[in-house]
Amino acid sequence: MNFIDFSEFCDTLESISGRLEMIDLIAEKLPGLSDEDMPVFLRFITGRVFPDYSQDKIGIGPNHVYESVAYVIGKNRDYVIRKINTGGDVGKAVENLLAKKEQTSFFSDTLELSGVFSDFKAISEVKGSRSQKEKLKFVKRLFANAKPIEGRYLARIMLGEMRIGVGDGNVREAVAKAFSVPAALVEHAYQAVNDLGEVALLAKRGEKALEEVKIELFRPVKMMLAKQGTIAEMIREQGSIAAEFKYDGTRFQFHKRGDEFKIYSRKLEEVTDAMPDISELLMNCTEHDVILDGEIIAVKDGKPMPFQYVLKRFRRRHDIEAHVENIRLIPNVFDILLLDNESLIEKPFTGRRRILEENVREYIAPQIVSGDIAEVEEFYRDALDEGHEGIMVKSLSAAYTPGQRVREWIKIKPEVDTIDLAVIGAEWGEGKRAGLFGSFLLACRDENDELYPVSKVATGISDEMLALIYDSLKESVISESGKFVRFEPEIVFEVGYAEIQKSVNYESGYALRFPRFIRVRDDKGIDEIETISSINERFTVQNDKRGIK
Ligand code: ATP
Repeated sequence: MNFIDFSEFCDTLESISGRLEMIDLIAEKLPGLSDEDMPVFLRFITGRVFPDYSQDKIGIGPNHVYESVAYVIGKNRDYVIRKINTGGDVGKAVENLLAKKEQTSFFSDTLELSGVFSDFKAISEVKGSRSQKEKLKFVKRLFANAKPIEGRYLARIMLGEMRIGVGDGNVREAVAKAFSVPAALVEHAYQAVNDLGEVALLAKRGEKALEEVKIELFRPVKMMLAKQGTIAEMIREQGSIAAEFKYDGTRFQFHKRGDEFKIYSRKLEEVTDAMPDISELLMNCTEHDVILDGEIIAVKDGKPMPFQYVLKRFRRRHDIEAHVENIRLIPNVFDILLLDNESLIEKPFTGRRRILEENVREYIAPQIVSGDIAEVEEFYRDALDEGHEGIMVKSLSAAYTPGQRVREWIKIKPEVDTIDLAVIGAEWGEGKRAGLFGSFLLACRDENDELYPVSKVATGISDEMLALIYDSLKESVISESGKFVRFEPEIVFEVGYAEIQKSVNYESGYALRFPRFIRVRDDKGIDEIETISSINERFTVQNDKRGIK
């Protein structure tokens, strides 16, 4: 497939808003694509470059794009930045800028979809001191060969801002429709293989191929997530349930085959090197090949320490040895997804738990099984007394459903109103905070991952944390005007608030009263921030509680 055909297809998708029409269009397109093109096509239209489980990162920032486009159209960088800033949409701005180039250049290579992907892969593999220059060479060549509309989508894919409204759910339905297989089977296979592209190739081979997929060692599986609820509700629905402490740490997945092992974070990034002590503890617990799911906590003098300590470890990869001495990190394993080549995710939780207890000697999270509300409530109080965040209540019969937030796992913790939002802008600080960002503009998202501002936050951030945040954000600046800075949305803040209000000041239509920084959610991606519809729900619940109609 030529990249121009791909770009025009995306342009058509962008112009329609009906879900079913979108699914039909994609479904019609898929059977005509080669096996090489289909996975790339599906990843690109959903704004991905690599499979979800992959450790590859394209590593291209706004600056690469500015500089390359400036080079290609023969203007300076500031000119390009000005044009991009006035439009707001990087893709469209690049398209307009490249239209100028077209009048002057007659010779260019045709871009192929698979060729663009190979270039992205090559860019992701560039390492070392000259890497920025090397990456630029690729990016310049891509833009030099791009027609304006191709430039629009190249820029958006490179910067992870595809946002043409094609949700993963629509794509899975389109795959099912294209190859006449049940949508539930496509969903099931996606949960196991963790890549839309590969699932489409399996769907093309038929139902049997989809049925046979299994989770694999060293291909991280998306984590199962919990909903909110109450102990009473859960016991009423389920009868007996399992309850475990809800550890305030960081989620991990441990893969082991023989002497080989890897640890993955909740975002499925490999963090093995940052956690040598955890690997050692777990390697000594079992002789089997396993995939384990759990939470790592930091402990000092037998007491759990705040979450932020665990995250610091992830960041401090260069100084691991020294750091290991200070804080003891402990794994709490609460699930097992694979044992010696057998996938366990379809088994009920009781079955998995038994296998876990039989095959892993230590660090298994303690559990009670009970159908008695009072007993579980007491367990909850014990959890809080011991310094944990609360408890998790789990259905005994539930399968492990990767990447799903389900009612079979309920989290119970003291009510605190916090919300996860993307950092999209900042104002430069003043006085003591000069040279750092002082206050931050935060956004929620809609179902299509469009971002909408909802609050500013400046309180609750220590000086040390401000400096850390500055270091993480300085590479993500897209534009600056006066004291305002706009960021490529990459970082998530958890923010506390007193109340949600309707507001005309923010595009989301809502604002937070007394927003207060709680922590950086390094373990969450932009696709996991709060949606407008859930803010709306919170708003309704809050007003119901206060008797406001
Ligand atoms: P979520 O992870 O659900 O999006 P969150 O990260 O804010 O939200 P909570 O919703 O408060 O966390 O709780 C779910 C998380 O709790 C899990 O993702 C996991 O990291 C952690 N956790 C701690 N103890 C357990 C446990 N025993 N079983 C499952 N998860 C646990």
